[in-house]
Amino acid sequence: KLDFHPAGRHFLQIPGPSPVPDRILRAMSLPTIDHRGPEFGALGLQVLSGIQKIFKTTQPVVIYPASGTGAWEAALTNTLSPGDTVLMYETGHFATLWKKMAEALGLKPEFIGLPGIEGWRRGVQADAIEARLRADTSHTIKAVCVVHNETSTGVTSNIAAVRKAIDAAKHPALLLVDTISGLAAADYRHDEWGVDVTVSGSQKGLMLPPGISFNAVSKKAIEASKTAKLPRAFWGWTEIIEMNKTGYWPYTPNTNLLYGLNEALDMILEEGLDNVFARHDRLSAACRLAVNTWGLEVQCADPTVYSPILTGVMTPEGFDADAIRKTIYERFNMSLGTGLGKMKGRMFRIGHLGEANDLSLMATLAGCEMGLKIAGVKLAGSGVVAAMEYLAEQKIPPLKIA
Ligand code: PLP
Repeated sequence: KLDFHPAGRHFLQIPGPSPVPDRILRAMSLPTIDHRGPEFGALGLQVLSGIQKIFKTTQPVVIYPASGTGAWEAALTNTLSPGDTVLMYETGHFATLWKKMAEALGLKPEFIGLPGIEGWRRGVQADAIEARLRADTSHTIKAVCVVHNETSTGVTSNIAAVRKAIDAAKHPALLLVDTISGLAAADYRHDEWGVDVTVSGSQKGLMLPPGISFNAVSKKAIEASKTAKLPRAFWGWTEIIEMNKTGYWPYTPNTNLLYGLNEALDMILEEGLDNVFARHDRLSAACRLAVNTWGLEVQCADPTVYSPILTGVMTPEGFDADAIRKTIYERFNMSLGTGLGKMKGRMFRIGHLGEANDLSLMATLAGCEMGLKIAGVKLAGSGVVAAMEYLAEQKIPPLKIA
């Protein structure tokens, strides 16, 4: 039993799951239909082609009724064999979890990155990847795995630079990218960036509840899957891609989440992907301005890789970030993201993704500012006022009609 009485709308400002818009909730409330019937086939074809636009790919996108972790496993088991070396880059907690999974599956991950928390404050260093691949003259490294938007820190790595590094080293390794929290919020180009498997999930930029996840694949990845020997059954691409040609799946798919996906695709494509990205950029800039005005530090230390999806806020020495989050939760009915792994207790994360707009960000920042004051943090200035002025002065970028 809670010892307080939360009133009104809950502010779910964690970096995913993001709030699910009413339009999507209503779409998902339709009756569940026969997943072998004609109506379902039409829905299947529609979402399978719509989602390609979001990944910017003309190649298959496999949709799993699973959380993002399942799609991580699918990416590895479809393309690799037991004992294969994979080069993984430590950007934060989620990169670390993916590496643990690789170990559990019998792969040999090499985990590189900057020491201490420094690596958790900067994006993937593509030159380090290039140097390691150049040294691997016998091509024992079979895949390079990187996280695009590291949700534990608020750093969005440059995937095009990673592609360039692999090409510069003339190395045949596959490129596997996790954009579970980046898709439909930060620019992402599966085909143009030559990504072999892109992993994503439903509960972030796509504004859906958790429960479906994705593998966008390349021809090279499909070729690799023909000889890859890691055991896979449920995750196997071949049968799914074959049945998807008529809009069906080999098992019972997540029908109501697919209704939701259909609606989310409509919403995103109506707004226009570029407009969606510009909105996220603008909100994240206002959020960082607020943090800096408070006199606090943004977790991401490299301005070229600030995340448009979330902002990590480091709390001053002596202030437990989770205690501040608890105060904000109890007083203002708002959830903020906790510090994960190496950053436990030292930071909190503000999500500004999905359906976020100027007013939802302003309310969120007001909750943070009040919570910081209650916790006794000495603020250098009002981040709320600074962000409000920024948003009021900033012209909304002209709508680009898709
Ligand atoms: N990778 C990243 C970057 C994430 O943000 C998350 C979840 O937040 C995951 C992987 C794991 O996904 P899930 O919790 O949906 O299994």
